Amino acid sequence: MANVRSQKAEKVIGRMKMKVNRQMASSLLACVHCGMCTQSCHYVLANPDDPTYAPAYKADKIRKIFKRHVDWTGRVFPWWVSAKSLYTDEDLEELKDTVFGKCTNCRRCSVNCPMGVDYGVFNRMARGALVSVGVMPEGVAVVSKDQWETGNQMGVLKEDYIETLEWLSEELQEELEDESAVIPIDKQNADLVYSINPREVKYDPRTISDAAKIFHTAGANWTMPSEGWDMTNFGLFSGYNELGGSVARRLYEKVEALNGKKLIISECGHGYRSTRCEGPNWAGRDVKFEMESSVITMLRYIREGRIKVDKSRNPEPVTFHDSCNNARSCGLTEEPRELLRLVCEDFREMLPNRAENYCCTGGGGAMSMSEYTPRRLKSGKIKADQLKATGAKVVVTSCHNCVDGLSDLIRHYKLGMDVAQLVNLVANALVLEKRAVVVPEPVVAPSVTEELPLAGRRIVVADDEPDFAEFVAMVLQDAGAEVFTAHNADTAMELARKEKPDLLTLDLQMPGKTGDKVFVEMRTDPELKKVPVCIITGQPEMRALIYDRSVPPPEGYMDKPVREDQILFNVKKILKIPHHDPDDG
Ligand code: SF4
Ligand code: SF4
Repeated sequence: MANVRSQKAEKVIGRMKMKVNRQMASSLLACVHCGMCTQSCHYVLANPDDPTYAPAYKADKIRKIFKRHVDWTGRVFPWWVSAKSLYTDEDLEELKDTVFGKCTNCRRCSVNCPMGVDYGVFNRMARGALVSVGVMPEGVAVVSKDQWETGNQMGVLKEDYIETLEWLSEELQEELEDESAVIPIDKQNADLVYSINPREVKYDPRTISDAAKIFHTAGANWTMPSEGWDMTNFGLFSGYNELGGSVARRLYEKVEALNGKKLIISECGHGYRSTRCEGPNWAGRDVKFEMESSVITMLRYIREGRIKVDKSRNPEPVTFHDSCNNARSCGLTEEPRELLRLVCEDFREMLPNRAENYCCTGGGGAMSMSEYTPRRLKSGKIKADQLKATGAKVVVTSCHNCVDGLSDLIRHYKLGMDVAQLVNLVANALVLEKRAVVVPEPVVAPSVTEELPLAGRRIVVADDEPDFAEFVAMVLQDAGAEVFTAHNADTAMELARKEKPDLLTLDLQMPGKTGDKVFVEMRTDPELKKVPVCIITGQPEMRALIYDRSVPPPEGYMDKPVREDQILFNVKKILKIPHHDPDDG
């Protein structure tokens, strides 16, 4: 009996046939199975006895379908060229596991292939075909939905984004004692329009204020758009070019509406590649303005003498991690190094580096696919070894995805390093004319012991993982807060009623009643509905349970893992407590 093909399998094959271009076809045909790419892949290095991680093995899964349905050899003699088709939904699931769960599309294997096979490119195409029929990891579906619906991949609401920029503006004015030191929003005819990663608004606003400080000091005529500000693009990870085009279009159209002269892309590897290199193709349009990485902007300011820097303010040993997208796909390798040598005293290379660097393991959207986390962390062993061998205290990277990937590895392999971006180091080294005294300070993780910003505040921490609850409680207590801890939903509600806290941090996955139910109960309880709630969860896929409710959204949201400085930033923001950087002097 002939094999019956499911509707989904039929559609996936149809889409693959449509999307294979000449570049992919030559990669699909060129492999001679020499195996030279095998040791390039971090998954292989961590799983030497499992052949299913080898790049050529993974590529063959797609190659066999291509041969069966596109290449003439497989259409005429399928048995001769090992051509194979897709039939069942199980076949699709198996393909999903390979293209999403065993490859970060880092393209390191391509650099080491003598035949020029670019597996990352057709792996991405296969992802897009699966996404078109809804076969994808849950996290990919959630993030894609957010970016389709809100225009940014973390679902940041416009009012939250604007409020954060205004809050950062006030802080900047205070810090620089200069009323003109603001973050201009939607300014027409600006020379520079600054686009960012939504992670900066949500978890790392310091990168925005550091950039603002640099633009202001350089006297730039700049602005941030109120919409179309997310330069990341989940279309690159999901392989779904329709999403890629929609996101890129929003960004380009906003710059044009503001009549901006140049779009500056903050430090993000996949954002830079998507916006500057792939975006115009996905969006199917010309882009008339220039686009530039903020790394190049900062370097130019120093070269032109528009900002002055003092490298003695960054004395710790620092190493640099090349983001795969920046280095392998965009050639952005020398500018970050030149900048590093100007702003820190002890820069040491990680080996290997530049286009040969290993992935942080968070590439290709891997951070959103929690089902593959153990696999991802295991495959990070080579990266952890690379980091350790440098002896550096800080690893700098020009990518928000890499910040998360590296932070996870540093925690998992207990490396005791901090992660920073170039913007943090440049801002730390910035010589401000008005400053009378300059005290060198560490780059990352502002100390909270010098002041007690949360003194007098009462906070309930609800999380079923005792270690994590203790960690959050300790961070808050060190900042002066009185903390009450709950390990289940009932105790959390009890404490909320009894203690009337200023804030409740809430895990979503707890025994008994889940966090989303506690949240709704609080929002509908006349006594508790005004208590601000900050979700801290390790289940980003549960986010929809919170945001799709008819009750007002939580005041804060963080995905685990979280760092001490992120907790403090977010809690202070929710409680409207001004944040003071340690380099205030
Ligand atoms: S190095 Fe290139 S030709 Fe050799 S197995 Fe890998 S992909 Fe195929
Ligand atoms: S693209 Fe990267 S993760 Fe994927 S097979 Fe090649 S080396 Fe491995």
